Amino acid sequence: MMIFLAAYRINYRTNQKMNQIIDGKAIAQLVNLETADKVKALKLKHQTPGLAVVLVGNDPASQVYVNNKVKMCAELGIHSEKHELSADSTTEQVISLIRQLNQNPDIDGVLVQSPPPPQIDEEAVIAAIDPAKDVDCFHESNVGKLLIGKEDGFKPCTPHGVMVLLEKSGIDPAGKHAVVIGRSNIVGKPLMAMLVQKAKGANATVTCVHSATRNLKELTRGADILIAAIGKPGFVKADMVKPGAVVIDVGINRVPNLETGKTKIVGDVDFAEVAKVASAITPVPGGVGPMTIAMLMHNTVQACERRKQ
Ligand code: NAP
Repeated sequence: MMIFLAAYRINYRTNQKMNQIIDGKAIAQLVNLETADKVKALKLKHQTPGLAVVLVGNDPASQVYVNNKVKMCAELGIHSEKHELSADSTTEQVISLIRQLNQNPDIDGVLVQSPPPPQIDEEAVIAAIDPAKDVDCFHESNVGKLLIGKEDGFKPCTPHGVMVLLEKSGIDPAGKHAVVIGRSNIVGKPLMAMLVQKAKGANATVTCVHSATRNLKELTRGADILIAAIGKPGFVKADMVKPGAVVIDVGINRVPNLETGKTKIVGDVDFAEVAKVASAITPVPGGVGPMTIAMLMHNTVQACERRKQ
């Protein structure tokens, strides 16, 4: 795997004109190998990292996400617990479960699969999670630490995954103009905070555009690194991208598959067209998606190392 990555980096550096597909699956596998090594080291000290995933209701997409997390825990040797609550649960019932998990010494990370049913006060639920177990980095204490660059919090999984994708692909954001499309609390805002930090692997000049931005195309065309987190299939077209830019597609959109009559997953970027102008681009699926789960596993092990050191 390391050999593959070395070859991949050389390719990227020596042939800037080649349109590089950034292989998120391979990079996530590298991160997972590092995580598995850390789990082994912890087990030698009779410590096992533990993740509790709380699922409220029976949203089919959420069930798939939760099952993928549980499966990855098993592959890496991490203890996992799936807690399923009925769709008519109250905020108090969810918080009561979170309090139990906060106290449980076998559990290092707690996450509540989003989105919960509408009657649940998600903010109150997140606030109830022990910040030391907040491996999704949604708690305001960890969000604040991220903003001021304090390293003892957690980094949110998807934006962290984007930063690691850039790093492992030999793309240094320092001094570059990074444009983030989208300002959600889960992706856009934390990504801006991470890219702008005065730190290795960051140090970019950052612009964030959103639905109220007037000259969106003009701004995206100024990006050396363009990151799309919008939730609109194929939103980013080739004429919105500067030739030679790096394009990272965070979007996961389910659309009808006209060939099979079922559905398929596409990103926020018109991949076929944008790949012709970008110097490097992530596909969907197989780009940012696998990184999100890899960073969740990384955070769970980090939480264990901190709590049990
Ligand atoms: P979100 O909360 O819906 O936020 C979307 C953002 O895009 C908002 O800031 C919105 O602007 C902006 N936007 C919408 N339409 C726009 C337009 N026409 N022009 C400019 N900006 C526009 O979505 P999210 O949670 O950030 O997720 C974004 C995408 O990433 C989704 O496809 C989601 O499924 C995907 N995602 C993927 C992963 C992963 O693991 N790969 C993880 C999380 C999310 P306003 O703020 O002005 O409304």
